[in-house]
Amino acid sequence: MSEVAAVVMPAPGRALETRRFASPKAKPGGAVLETIASEVCGTDVHLHHGRLSGVPFPIIPGHVNCGRVLETGGPLADVEGHPILAGTIVTFFDVFGTCGSCWQCLVAKSATRCPHRRVYGITTSAVEGLLGGWSELIEILPGVRMLPLPEGIQPEDFMGGGCGLPTGFHAVERGGIALGDTVVVQGSGPVGLNAAIFAQLAGALDVYVVGAPKARLEAARRLGAADVLDIAQVPDPANRVRWVCERTGGRGADVVFEASGNPAAVAEGLEMLRDAGRYVVVGQYTDAGDIAINPHRHINRRHATILGCWGYEFTHLHRALQLMARHNTRFRWRELITREYALKDAGQALEDMERLAVVKALIRP
Ligand SMILES: [Zn+2]
Ligand SMILES: [Zn+2]
Repeated sequence: MSEVAAVVMPAPGRALETRRFASPKAKPGGAVLETIASEVCGTDVHLHHGRLSGVPFPIIPGHVNCGRVLETGGPLADVEGHPILAGTIVTFFDVFGTCGSCWQCLVAKSATRCPHRRVYGITTSAVEGLLGGWSELIEILPGVRMLPLPEGIQPEDFMGGGCGLPTGFHAVERGGIALGDTVVVQGSGPVGLNAAIFAQLAGALDVYVVGAPKARLEAARRLGAADVLDIAQVPDPANRVRWVCERTGGRGADVVFEASGNPAAVAEGLEMLRDAGRYVVVGQYTDAGDIAINPHRHINRRHATILGCWGYEFTHLHRALQLMARHNTRFRWRELITREYALKDAGQALEDMERLAVVKALIRP
């Protein structure tokens, strides 16, 4: 291939364009992947609306991807020390540039808040190269960590999880679920559904999912939710809180995950939490505004623990992938893929994602 086609998001609100780029060569310590699939997720919709700051438009979207190694710049190995050769099917940790030497990295030990951290398809410009998955080829920069798909895992399995897989995993790790806990997940998108899966693997007794639309709630049921609540059918938040209380002995859930993206869900979710419960906010990826909460009732008297959860680290992607390999017959991640799109139909994919017509959409270059 001397030329490569890639979809470019030129600026917020502007139509996507297919552009041609020179075929990249692997840098020493880097690689070039032939893209098998890239995801379309809520983040891409936010990007297109200009709701994320510091995005160096024009960009090639697609931060979670699967590809076949075309060439490597010298010998490369995965984190276990196994060689990564041409032909290996891999995904990669989309975050790079985390410095390991700033205050956030060293003192706070919060690498996902490192100011030098960069993400494929989000904070990488198309001017810098093929650093997003909506492209026939993806350039793996030196230092970017590739993960070969474990045995038995096909690209469709992994992509069905998408970025919700490590994000949901991280949220559940933050939530510190105890064996036998009852869990509520607010939001039935990929993050919420993956949180529901990992909550079960972490030992939750019952997981309840509150969300919409119907297709996503049906997916939640297939993935083991004890019951689901359609917010379109029950528009009054007080009734939704009552629904949770009826299923938790009137006490509320031990752990509640907010994965909805709606700020109002936070006050509602705190009402669904039992005394001394844990509340994890993972869905507020963009600034969607302020809400009123009652510090006395929601936090202090409730003796609540409230946790934020920003991004994910390599460890979350790695461990989530191993768990997927073990539990792929119980939880059919690949069934979350509603539709696949060719590169030229990326605009349609974005539109379908925006109106929640799909659970997970894939770009197939
Ligand atoms: Zn740092
Ligand atoms: Zn994503």
